[in-house]
Amino acid sequence: MSLESKYNLKSPGVKRLMREALELKNPTEEYYASPIEDNLFEWHFTVRGPPDTEFEGGFYHGRILLPPQYPMQPPNIILLTPNGRFEVNKKICLSISGYHPETWQPSWSIRTALLALIAFMPTKGVGTIGSLDYTPEERKTLAQKSQNWECTTCGKIADKLITGDTASSPALTQEESSMLQSIALKAEEDANRKETENIESAEENKEKEDDKPTRCGRMAKVFHEPDSEETSVRRRDIAESGSNEPQVEVNDMINQIQPSKDKDILWSLAIYIILFLIAILLIRRIFFM
Ligand SMILES: [Zn+2]
Repeated sequence: MSLESKYNLKSPGVKRLMREALELKNPTEEYYASPIEDNLFEWHFTVRGPPDTEFEGGFYHGRILLPPQYPMQPPNIILLTPNGRFEVNKKICLSISGYHPETWQPSWSIRTALLALIAFMPTKGVGTIGSLDYTPEERKTLAQKSQNWECTTCGKIADKLITGDTASSPALTQEESSMLQSIALKAEEDANRKETENIESAEENKEKEDDKPTRCGRMAKVFHEPDSEETSVRRRDIAESGSNEPQVEVNDMINQIQPSKDKDILWSLAIYIILFLIAILLIRRIFFM
């Protein structure tokens, strides 16, 4: 059954995916993607490891799952080829993928998502969901192995992309290049931040673990909260002052307790005597009235 007869061509999502399938029909040097067999909402893709990185020479294959609301909702990306940067068979976290519907824009496309994926590969994982921190050597080994990797649906993936300068990919739109630029910028910021983080205390780490499930990664967080650094500094200040103050108080209390110990005993003795007298008075009043 052809795709045309299976889907409602009046649906904006279907119309949009049909158009994208047509636009991406010819593989480029960097990426190739097409819907599988007869499902317009699941695509398989192949991207080439970015040159001058530990992924150079590698071919990475995966699935793109499109929500029924596409393009209003972002696609989910799952890598299948072991690569050392993203976990396989798991929805990965790009600030433009399904984990971050708020950053997705309907004018973006599957091509935009693939470009972002390529741009994200050499960036640091910094504990984001679905990211791995393999060493460059391990990644290079995986890049070599990926050349013979086969998809159970599509077969050998290294053949999916074309080689040579003959077919360069279509020029980037202004939106795409500004998106890629912000990825590069964030990658740099994250590298710097990671160094600072290593020096931070265990307390901070614990705090970070606490809000881990709600975030996919700093990379995305920075995107939405430009003041996040400020807040974390503020939080650190609070944490520091919080850990110092009670200690001072306790010390003061100990200092106060030690010299006044004898006085306290006298006072409590006096209180007991008064209570005892009151009790006697009450008993007298009740029984001898
Ligand atoms: Zn495949």
